[in-house]
Amino acid sequence: MKDRKLWNPRVELMSEDEMKSLQLKRLKKQVAYNYHHSEFYRKKFDSARIKPSDIQSFEDFHQVPLMTKGEHRQAQEESLERFGNPYGLLACAPREKIVRINSTSGTTGMPTLYTLTKHDIAIVNEMHARKYWRAGIRPGDVMLQALSLSMFTGGLPLSEGIQHMGACVVPVGIEGGTRRVFDFIHLTSPVAIIATPSFGEYMIEQAPKIIGRPASELGLRWFFCAAEPGGGDPEVRKKLSDGFGGAMIFDHTGGGHAFHGISCSQPAEEHKGMHFVSEDHCLLELIDPKTKEPVKIEDGASGEMVFTFLDWEGGPFMRYALGDILEIWTKSCACGMPGKRFKIVGRADDMLIIKGVNVYPGAIKNAVEHFFPNVTGALRIILDKPGPSVTPPLKIRLEYGEGLDRAKIRALESDMVKYFKENLRINPKFIWVEPGSIPRETKKAKLVEVK
Ligand SMILES: [Zn+2]
Repeated sequence: MKDRKLWNPRVELMSEDEMKSLQLKRLKKQVAYNYHHSEFYRKKFDSARIKPSDIQSFEDFHQVPLMTKGEHRQAQEESLERFGNPYGLLACAPREKIVRINSTSGTTGMPTLYTLTKHDIAIVNEMHARKYWRAGIRPGDVMLQALSLSMFTGGLPLSEGIQHMGACVVPVGIEGGTRRVFDFIHLTSPVAIIATPSFGEYMIEQAPKIIGRPASELGLRWFFCAAEPGGGDPEVRKKLSDGFGGAMIFDHTGGGHAFHGISCSQPAEEHKGMHFVSEDHCLLELIDPKTKEPVKIEDGASGEMVFTFLDWEGGPFMRYALGDILEIWTKSCACGMPGKRFKIVGRADDMLIIKGVNVYPGAIKNAVEHFFPNVTGALRIILDKPGPSVTPPLKIRLEYGEGLDRAKIRALESDMVKYFKENLRINPKFIWVEPGSIPRETKKAKLVEVK
């Protein structure tokens, strides 16, 4: 059993058609369930003058109005007033079946809640198992979780998922400080760590001072990045891999809900984004952020992410549009693992328009990173005035890679111009600067600079 590559090959290897038919079957059931158990969803259907029985195809489903984070918060507030609890309007399961509430990290405004029944928790556990199993974790492996362990979705749900697949979790958290993390590495000999990439970099820097030896000697073979965008950045990944003695670096996402993905271990150009592992429980749609019209999911497509939980009891989100822009790849990946891949490339309101072409700063970063290590990946998009409209050419300040001479930079630039034309349909002006001259910000990637 340990030899198999996937946790749940029956589902993870489903053909596109099989998956679609499973999704449609679950969607019809879910829509009826939501309608009958939640006033919030019933109102949505009524406002669009549709009944659950009208939804017989994915196209029919586009008639269901989108749900926004603002509506989610509003429904929580109204529920508090009317029912004395935050989920009376949205939750579909009776209260005695709801056994866990998770929350987004909620940096701005009222946190939005996920309500889960035991059935939903089992789904979340399954998704964590699929991710770590793909990465090569097996029962008997010890994983140190050095993320915040509070109710934030990467905390408790992640620990439970690790136990579910039979690996051993050491939920040390970060609340006790960096020394405590090192102490528990010494005590429990983990082979893997889950942390933010910036904490990983901090560990590399601090290890000689705190424990008197480099982080490369800690014996960590896996580093799972979470909670920050840096895990998708090839430069950050290389730094972590080098600092932890050649550890495999994975980026992953998904906490106490149904949208989960894990990257491949290599930052190479053909390994783009994260593999979507939860298609059987999360229907993903893309829409145009302006017109809200559906965008076809095909290789290279991008648009605002809309998701619907399938086979979900507690708080099943339906056509939830969070304003995140995804880029999607459907072609098979060089790593050999199945599943579409996605990358969150920004927020709907980051969009730039250059001669009628919509471009996201995150997509520009992806395109630049395609040329790593001939570029470092650090860049700034320079705007003369705030977007979204940009007078061409779009200016991109970027660093060439270590050791590149003028001739090599010229050749690189002509490859890049071609790549940008083909993939993003824009013709930017590249402004080259030395490696290391653009400030690094791991927590929040600042990509745009307005003069
Ligand atoms: Zn892959």
